[in-house]
This record gives sequence, C-alpha cells and structure tokens, in this order.
Amino acid sequence: DQKTVLITGCSSGIGLSLAVRIAKDEKKRFMVYATMRNLSKGEALIEAAGRTLGKTLEIKQLDVCDEDSIKTCVDSIPERRVDILISNAGVGLVGPIECRSIEEMKAVMDTNFFGMVRLLKEILPDMKKRKSGHIVVISSVMGIQGILFNDIYAASKFAVEGFCESLAVQAMRFNLNISLIEPGPVVTDFERKVYEEGLKTDLSKADTVTADMFSNMYLKTFLQIFETFGQTPEDIAEHTFKIITMENPPFRHQTNMLYTPMTTLKYADPSGDLPLDIFYKMVFEHDKVFNASLNFLKLLRWRSRKSFTLDKPKA
Ligand code: NAD
Repeated sequence: DQKTVLITGCSSGIGLSLAVRIAKDEKKRFMVYATMRNLSKGEALIEAAGRTLGKTLEIKQLDVCDEDSIKTCVDSIPERRVDILISNAGVGLVGPIECRSIEEMKAVMDTNFFGMVRLLKEILPDMKKRKSGHIVVISSVMGIQGILFNDIYAASKFAVEGFCESLAVQAMRFNLNISLIEPGPVVTDFERKVYEEGLKTDLSKADTVTADMFSNMYLKTFLQIFETFGQTPEDIAEHTFKIITMENPPFRHQTNMLYTPMTTLKYADPSGDLPLDIFYKMVFEHDKVFNASLNFLKLLRWRSRKSFTLDKPKA
C-alpha cells in the first residue's frame, strides 16, 4: 500500500532532492507529488527524477501563496489523499530593517508562514477524518534562534514553529504526526539568492555603523559560514526521509550536529543572555569566542565532544 507524499517548492534545492529521494525508495513505498509554482522550471527535477517520473513521481503546479492553486492540486490527487505533507517552499531575506520595505517583509511571511497555513487548511481536515497523516515542515535553526540581519526570516520561521507547536497537541488527538526539520546552513539557490539580494541592498537608509556591519561583517562572512557549516540538499533529504519512515517521528529534528551547540545555548540559559553573549562575541570579538565556547562546554559538561569540532574562527 503506497503512501502519497505532497511536497512544495520542488524546482530546486531541498524540495527537489527530497522529491527524488522519496520517489527512488527501493521498496517503492511512496507516490510523490512534487509540486512547484512555475511548471516551466521543472527541467532540473525532470532530469533528476529519471525513470521515477510518471511512476513514483508526478509533477504538479502549486503556488503556496494561492489558495485556488492549492485546492486544484489537492483535488487532482486520487481521493484527495495526502498521507505525508511536506511544506518546503520558502524564501529568505537579509538586511537592516531600515532598508527593507514592509511589502518585502510581508512577502516573506506570506510564503514561509501563510504558505504553510494555507496548505494545512486544505489538507488537515482530510487527515483528521482518516485519523492518519504526517505533516513535515522544513523550518530552520532560525525557527528557534534568531541570527543577525535575518530578523524577518527568523520571525517567519518562529511563526511556523509556534503554529506547529500549538497544533501538535490537537493533532495527537487524531493520531497525526507533525515534524519540524531544522537545518542549519544548506548550500542551495537559497544561499545565492539571499546573498545576491543582500549585495543589492540600498544601504542609504541605514546609518553608517549599521551599513558597515551589514556589508563588511555580515555579507563578508556569509559565504564562509555556508562553506564551513553548510550541508547539501541531499543531506537534508536523507534526514527527512528517515523522519518520514519512522514509527514515532520526533516533533523537532536538527540536521546539523555542528550547529547543535548553538541552539543548546538557548535551552541552557532561560534568561537568554548566554546565546546573545556568544553571538555577540562571534560577530564582534572573534578571538574571544573560542574561549567563551570552551567555558560553555565545560559548564554543560558536554558529553558528545567527539561528535563535533569547534574550529577557531579565522580572524
Ligand atoms: P531554494 O530556493 O532552492 O528552494 C525554495 C523553493 O521554494 C524554490 O524552488 C522556490 O521556487 C520555491 N517557492 C518560493 N515561493 C514559492 C511559492 N509561492 N509557491 C511554491 N513554491 C515557492 O532553497 P532551499 O534551501 O531548498 O529552501 C527550501 C526550504 O528550506 C525553505 O523553506 C528554506 O527556508 C529552508 N531552509 C533553507 C536553508 C538554507 O540554508 N538553504 C536552511 C534552513 C532552512
């Protein structure tokens, strides 16, 4: 008995890798509906899907910002049955808020947050009726921890997490699972798009300190962070594949072990000062961060020291 999987944002990146990974399941346990906003951008997916196309993978149009498009897509699926929904479509935004319009910010919320809400409004009632289903949301470590100059993006992912955490208890009553996948940096078009938009930012509305911080500190280290910590979309696909094949999938799953010490800071100090202090030092006092991290590790009596390494950041 094949399970149906609907994934959004499959023309590139994590969505593409995920669609292909699930469709290529050796046991052919899944029928994947790989959706994208613009079908003319399907070439990369068609190529990667290979012989699964038309068998365990079908491409459909779906724009997460358009309720009609979501309904049309779900209506076209036999019995409207979606066993596993993977909400993946998302966009990034970086830069000082002085330089970003409310319209740009709303567009991020509309895709990353309301996009997921629209999907759930269409699919959740059927899952409740069947008393079965798994909702998987590609969130981010920025769904639990904000990062410099990612104010709006982090807010959109926090919104996603707050929404899912609230819904999760109700979902349990209907035997449904919800899982938030929280990648750190992933090397995809996302990174390139965010970086290029960042470079184009009109910084004339920001004061010189802020403008300098953004272009000479943030953007300069941006690519370096992806190089050092970045995972591939295939990594994220593999992690997500494991989650959807688990008997009792977790509510939250972080994909990047290198990043875990950072998110742990949040839970280690309820006042919130510890992670802020470390982030501040990471950004402004490179050399101090190494000692600060070490002290933190001692504080926690970190046990899994061998599973990651903290390289001293380059000056
Ligand atoms: P990506 O840009 O390659 O993929 C995002 C996809 O969403 C694109 O194919 C895009 O066309 C699609 N999309 C955008 N608006 C849409 C809409 N209205 N309707 C349907 N599709 C739409 O980047 P990615 O890295 O694969 O991102 C996938 C998800 O992973 C996003 O939710 C992103 O926030 C999240 N994420 C990415 C990273 C990273 O560093 N790349 C890290 C953590 C989380």
